[in-house]
Amino acid sequence: MAKLEAVNLSKRFGGLVAVDQLSLVVEPGTVVGIIGPNGSGKSTVFNLIMGVIAPDSGSVHYDGRRIDRLKLHRIARLGIGRTFQEVKIFRDLSVWENLAIAAIGRELSGWEDRGRTWLGEMGLMHLAEEPADSLSVGQQRLLEIAMNLLVEPNLLLLDEPLAGVHPVVRNRIGSVIRSQRDAGRTFLLIEHDMRFVMEICDRLVVLQQGRMIAAGTPEAVRRDETVIRALLGGTAVA
Ligand code: ADP
Ligand code: MG
Repeated sequence: MAKLEAVNLSKRFGGLVAVDQLSLVVEPGTVVGIIGPNGSGKSTVFNLIMGVIAPDSGSVHYDGRRIDRLKLHRIARLGIGRTFQEVKIFRDLSVWENLAIAAIGRELSGWEDRGRTWLGEMGLMHLAEEPADSLSVGQQRLLEIAMNLLVEPNLLLLDEPLAGVHPVVRNRIGSVIRSQRDAGRTFLLIEHDMRFVMEICDRLVVLQQGRMIAAGTPEAVRRDETVIRALLGGTAVA
């Protein structure tokens, strides 16, 4: 089981330091949450891990190997998947065709039974032949997650999976993360829904202006004065 490690990761965009000397470890079989205000560098951390952008300094390691200079398809082949803050699916294609593309992209064969199982798990079976564009935002997020889980990743990065979703979808996403974590998969989760991250994460990392200002168990982070001041304007998290 593989560990993800970022070491002193920094990324600037012009004069803006989006990620500032960030180090973090994601232990296998855990759910680690990244929280912080908008613009604090969370999605940039995902882009650095996935090789979408190169760090100015620092490095990313997975399973003991350096991955921050690898191409996306190489990273995917190591078993790392990712969903996007703005859902990325093929909107003109059907739900089933989206799964097929995910499978073909990774050269999977014999994926169809598992595809049907995932559609069932996600409550999307009746929509299999519908264009992905006709789904609600929450259903589109479930499809994007299913496309990732279909290829059985070791590590899945989820960028605000609850943004714009109905409470029913929220619960479904929560139970999928839990059951997949229990099956040994690892999650790195960006999410603003505090109750959700507090319930589901084994550890939390708090970013502010690209810097890690706190990290630890949800209970420890919730009580951290720096976090309370930075995120909550002085009121404790419920
Ligand atoms: P978060 O996901 O925490 O809301 P982001 O990582 O998306 O934050 O962005 C962090 C900062 O970096 C923001 O100020 C954002 O505008 C900036 N940024 C992100 N990506 C780029 C980019 N490709 N080019 C220029 N600035 C960027
Ligand atoms: Mg973001």
